[in-house]
Amino acid sequence: MGVHRSALCRGPYGGEGHQAGGTDCSDPAVFEVVRHNKPPLLVCPVHLGPALLLASGVLWPPEIRLIGRVPGLRP
Ligand SMILES: [Zn+2]
Repeated sequence: MGVHRSALCRGPYGGEGHQAGGTDCSDPAVFEVVRHNKPPLLVCPVHLGPALLLASGVLWPPEIRLIGRVPGLRP
C-alpha cells in the first residue's frame, strides 16, 4: 500500500532503461518481485507468472510481496 497504491505493472520483462516504455500492460501492480541488484519488479496478477520466468535478476525460489489487493487471496 502507500507509495505502491497507484503503481502500474512493469511486467513481464521489467521495463528498465530504454525498455522502460516497452511494457504493454497498464494494470495496477499487485505483486512486487524481488530481484538481484535491481529494483523490485511490480507486476499485475496476469504477469506475475511470466515475469518470474522472463524478467532479469529474479531470485529462485522467487521472493514475492503482495502490495495490492487480490479478491479471494488471503496473505
Ligand atoms: Zn501486467
